[in-house]
Amino acid sequence: MTTVLKFGGTSVATPEALARLTEIVRATAGKRVVVVSATAGTTNALLQAADAAAAGDGDRAQRVIDELAAAHDGLLRSVAPVAADTTAADLAELAARTGALLRSVAILHECTARTRDAILAYGELASAPIVAAALRRAGVKAQPLATVGMVVTDDAFGSASPIFAETHARSREMLGPLLDDGVVPVLTGFIGATAEGVTTTLGRGASDYTAAIVAAALRADECRIYTDVSGVMSADPRMVRGSRPLARLSYAEAAELSYFGAKVLHPRAVLPAIEAGIPVRILNTFAPDDPGTTITGQGVPDGSVVKATTSLGGLGLVTVQGAGMSGVPGFAAKVFDTTAAEGVSVLMISQSSSENSICLVVPADTGDRLKAALERMLAKELAHHDVERVSVERPIAVVAAVGEGMRGTPGVAARVFGALGRTKVNVIAIAQGSSELNISFCVAEADQAKAVRAIHEEFERAAS
Ligand code: ASP
Ligand code: MG
Repeated sequence: MTTVLKFGGTSVATPEALARLTEIVRATAGKRVVVVSATAGTTNALLQAADAAAAGDGDRAQRVIDELAAAHDGLLRSVAPVAADTTAADLAELAARTGALLRSVAILHECTARTRDAILAYGELASAPIVAAALRRAGVKAQPLATVGMVVTDDAFGSASPIFAETHARSREMLGPLLDDGVVPVLTGFIGATAEGVTTTLGRGASDYTAAIVAAALRADECRIYTDVSGVMSADPRMVRGSRPLARLSYAEAAELSYFGAKVLHPRAVLPAIEAGIPVRILNTFAPDDPGTTITGQGVPDGSVVKATTSLGGLGLVTVQGAGMSGVPGFAAKVFDTTAAEGVSVLMISQSSSENSICLVVPADTGDRLKAALERMLAKELAHHDVERVSVERPIAVVAAVGEGMRGTPGVAARVFGALGRTKVNVIAIAQGSSELNISFCVAEADQAKAVRAIHEEFERAAS
């Protein structure tokens, strides 16, 4: 049995968290690989330091490093008062190296993506030895291991892509003997290196990705993502009092949920594990006995229809309207060319079959810019009144009801919209993908929470 356990930023940031982590690792049988994030807030602080240095403020950048170094040293000494000396010296040297990088950035007034990755790597390079020291203190044979040299990537600094074949081979080669010896390797999440050995990062929040990649390489039995919540919830608990953690999700459901707000994990990050048939479990470091959420490639039918309701506010609805649009091939292409040219990401699209209007849901702050660009693009159509107007409505929210169980189940839409009607929430636009996994609709932002509650209640009541 091989288990990959990934601990996020809050799970490694305090002596209490490290005590929990240690308990969890000790209680896990078989071969164990630990993957860690930087301590909470560290990566952001490093980014600020890099920005300050690039702006020429080397002193400010150095202060950030000094503060981070002091915090890491304090954390190390609190968990491993004895035998911390070599680790403390390593950490001091790492901080000195990062400080030197920042000084060069400040002199050059320029921080390339490549240099930024070398600076950001400090976070995970510092947390892994601290976690390993905490584990050793508790009698676990742990060894920190930097994933530069193990996770091989391309050179797209800032969001590098792993080269899987090489990464898998090296992971097995480097981790296999340690695991056979009963050692728990503590890997740095988030970072890798090019084949030439230049440090890269895999994108913000990518420690989950590291865990999934390593789980796939080792053909692990389970990939656990430890965070500070007990899994993916059926609805945002700040909006819905009766929301509860979901025991099981299919990968497709998790993807739908994360898209609209449920930010527990980025499903793409765990795809390597899912593709290898390895279940991914989201668990709470601070409540490790909670069952959490298990994500698998295929859904397990559990009789539920709408499993979760999620929403995202701060959006605008851009509508292009006019009778002269119908039956004109290429019209939608013009609209989407414009959104692409403006670099505006579209969250939801809806067009009625009369083709008299196309609605696009976009981030609220891009609405005016997109409206102006569309008016330029469609100037001729507007002059001829083929297009009547381009309008923006905001603030609006998108609400999505998600669940594999609604595929092929008649009457789900009727229940969704019936529940909204009874609570007197006005629906502005509707979309459903043909995967039938998700019914999405727009409401005024003021109605967002009310809409989520209405749907959650409709389907929870039936389930219980
Ligand atoms: N430390 C990195 C970040 O904050 C990676 C991670 O936390 O997963 O983006
Ligand atoms: Mg994180």
